[in-house]
Amino acid sequence: MPTLIDEATKILRDNKLKITKQRKAMLDYLANNAKHCYVDVTKIDEYMRKTFPRMSHNTIYRNIDEFTQLGLVERQAQGDQAAVCFQCDFKNEHHHHFVCNQCGKVIELENCPIDPKIMAQLGGCQISGHLFQIYGECADCVNSSI
Ligand SMILES: [Zn+2]
Ligand SMILES: [Zn+2]
Ligand SMILES: [Zn+2]
Repeated sequence: MPTLIDEATKILRDNKLKITKQRKAMLDYLANNAKHCYVDVTKIDEYMRKTFPRMSHNTIYRNIDEFTQLGLVERQAQGDQAAVCFQCDFKNEHHHHFVCNQCGKVIELENCPIDPKIMAQLGGCQISGHLFQIYGECADCVNSSI
């Protein structure tokens, strides 16, 4: 089984992006902190600045954008903040999540709930995407609060 990092570096290579020290460090950070949970992009920025003091905020945010565009990470807005989590399924890029409000854990949902009837109501529109997410408390958090 290739690790998340193996799959991610392969995608970088396939897209002709160099595996720089910085990109490698960001992947490591994400694999350790953003696997099946969302981490604020500001936290990634903080970590990268600590590790590479000469790296600019612009470069860091550009790298995060690249990762998002390549599908290495999944991005979502939380209020004013953006957060990313490591792609939970490289084979099924289109999928939805349950997100725990307490611990931030992410569970991948196997089904997409979009009904063809909805699409029929949008005849003539060009659809570029949709959002669907379930929130709540994961089983671990439910059990620990009893
Ligand atoms: Zn996912
Ligand atoms: Zn939880
Ligand atoms: Zn869907």
